[in-house]
Amino acid sequence: MENSCLFCRIVAGEIPATIVHRTETTVAFRDIDPKAPTHVLVIPVTHHADVVALAGDPAAAADVLAAAAKVAEIEGLTAGFRVIFNTGRDGGQEVFHVHAHVVGGAPLGPMLARS
Ligand code: 5GP
Ligand code: ZN
Repeated sequence: MENSCLFCRIVAGEIPATIVHRTETTVAFRDIDPKAPTHVLVIPVTHHADVVALAGDPAAAADVLAAAAKVAEIEGLTAGFRVIFNTGRDGGQEVFHVHAHVVGGAPLGPMLARS
């Protein structure tokens, strides 16, 4: 655990979150600022900064993907959903504990915002 990491502190229960699914190796909780009717963040319990670091821990990566699929099932996203890993500056990543955004519950529109 990294004391300065917001999501490590959510894993530890030091910061409250609405948890929708938990395994030994993952936690899934509702995003505080949802961008879709369902917007859940899935994180590994162990601290990895981003998806590149997570890729170096294949077991944790597989667990995060399995948890994302489970969240979609729990949330009833039978019409589809997106799993997004924002990465680095161009990716708009704000929290540097890797998280999969699971978003759905309505048509999500174009894949990318156009400027
Ligand atoms: P990123 O931009 O890093 O991909 O996404 C970070 C996400 O974390 C954002 O969607 C933001 O709304 C969410 N977030 C930031 N702080 C908190 C918090 O304290 N609790 C929860 N549940 N979500 C948060
Ligand atoms: Zn962390």
